[in-house]
Amino acid sequence: MTRTEPTHRMLIDGRLVGADGDLLDVLNPATEQIAGRVPDATDAQLSAAVEAAERAFVSWSVSPVEERRAVLRAAAAVVGEHTEELAALLTAEQGKPLADARSELMAFVAWFDGHAAMDYPADEVTETETHRVRVRHVPLGVVAGIVPWNFPVGQISWKIAPALLTGNTIVAKPSPYTPLTTLRIGELLADVVPAGVLNVISGGDSLGPRLSEHPGIRKIALTGSTATGRKVMASAARSLTRVTLELGGNDAAIVLPDVDVDEVAPRVFWTCFGNSGQICIAAKRVYVHEDVYDAFAERFAQIARSVKVGNGLEEGVQLGPIQNRAQYEKVVGLIKKTVDSGAKLLVEGSIPDGPGYFVHPTVVDNPADDSAIVTQEPFGPVVPLLRFRDVDEVVRRANDSEYGLGGTVWSRDLAAAEELAARIETGTVWINQEQLLSPMQQFSGHKASGFGTENGVEGALEYTNTQVLSVRKE
Ligand code: NAD
Repeated sequence: MTRTEPTHRMLIDGRLVGADGDLLDVLNPATEQIAGRVPDATDAQLSAAVEAAERAFVSWSVSPVEERRAVLRAAAAVVGEHTEELAALLTAEQGKPLADARSELMAFVAWFDGHAAMDYPADEVTETETHRVRVRHVPLGVVAGIVPWNFPVGQISWKIAPALLTGNTIVAKPSPYTPLTTLRIGELLADVVPAGVLNVISGGDSLGPRLSEHPGIRKIALTGSTATGRKVMASAARSLTRVTLELGGNDAAIVLPDVDVDEVAPRVFWTCFGNSGQICIAAKRVYVHEDVYDAFAERFAQIARSVKVGNGLEEGVQLGPIQNRAQYEKVVGLIKKTVDSGAKLLVEGSIPDGPGYFVHPTVVDNPADDSAIVTQEPFGPVVPLLRFRDVDEVVRRANDSEYGLGGTVWSRDLAAAEELAARIETGTVWINQEQLLSPMQQFSGHKASGFGTENGVEGALEYTNTQVLSVRKE
């Protein structure tokens, strides 16, 4: 790779486009070496992408839905055929273990295939003796799909698949930290998706606001932090651009006293530490009933100590590095603050010297409810265990958060667990299972965790306007 050539190009109007402006380095978080170089989209390139999407919308929006389903299936097949290449690239830029990168690519394929098969009500007709009322769900126009760096490929499929199914066109923008795999997918799909229907652009911090504020954008589908969600919603208010926002979370896992600790502790562990804790729906506060707290904490700590952390390309590695230096410094700072506050660490994860943003799993023993490690979203491999005594108390403490994304409840008594789960103020609560997601299942955040819904028919319909054609029969 030369300094003047990007390693990956943008997809604009069906053509692969290099840099007209600067090039941005993308670092491998395990080595801090350059993993690739991408174009920093200029204003002219951004406008070219939005205008291409506007032109493509004219025919795509009225194309038969079967044609659009076929394009989604064809795109899924091409990405599926390139899973190995794409997974290695994803690990190189994101850091996650190769097996997890493969799973993320498989999720991309499942989301495209799932939406291709989704039966959404594009056109519903009700007849009475006097009236024929037709309710159409018409596409909005050009969508801006904006995603973070933790699941770059999985998250972008949550935007592209429903947007295209419902007849919209899209400009997809990955995070500046993880653009490589998404750009590579754009390269692979250049001849699969009609020109302008899917555009993929890359750039630095200014590109997100420039894209979401572009006058050609009719909807912004953002996954990101709550702070960014607030900014996007404020700017969208001026133009009344539609928004769907999937934002931060501080999910509670609640472990009731009747569980089999040996079975449940490892499962709860992975709901916390999978992807090195960098999951919006990771369990970030683990409430354990006092009757089983000590046994659970011991088992949980054993697992934390035994996990293999390292370069995701190495055999046997279970957790990769934190994805970028800013996040690494935030997590390390939060652990230091927790220790300085006097909280006890059950497991003090080492923070090795040398290249790579590695932090080993860190477990905090029953810190105060108002400590930063409990109230903030760490988005890294550190989690507090918290002791509780009764159900009303744990419901109050779990709900004492500005966030409302997900959560888990663990118990042998399914009825009691479900009753408790229904009292948690979040978009999803999983009972006796890890965080299961599906293209057919709505996903949404309550409170500061989001606005609107993704996935399922309800999620697809967020990419449409309703039009009622009411005919009086004479
Ligand atoms: P971030 O908000 O900094 O960035 C997310 C994306 O938004 C990036 O592509 C970024 O370039 C873009 N962006 C930033 N400012 C923007 C603006 N003003 N206008 C338009 N776009 C802008 O988030 P991050 O640090 O990349 O990701 C971590 C956060 O994402 C965490 O809070 C996590 O919980 C959240 N997240 C939520 C979900 C969910 O589904 N709810 C899933 C994954 C991550």
